[in-house]
Amino acid sequence: MPRGDGTGPAGGRGRGQMGGGRASAGPGGDCVCPSCGHREAHERGVPCVEKTCPKCGTKMVRAR
Ligand SMILES: [Zn+2]
Repeated sequence: MPRGDGTGPAGGRGRGQMGGGRASAGPGGDCVCPSCGHREAHERGVPCVEKTCPKCGTKMVRAR
């Protein structure tokens, strides 16, 4: 590839950082109770582990 016009991928901006969240699963998805299987929508900004199952009180985990 000859270098000449300078419009190649030299900027390095615009990729690599997405909002700053450190969650691995990204937005969307559900939380699920590992004990009884109850699922509910994951709330953005609220880790599943901070929620408890309304049925059995077990801490929820992230489902995918
Ligand atoms: Zn449960």
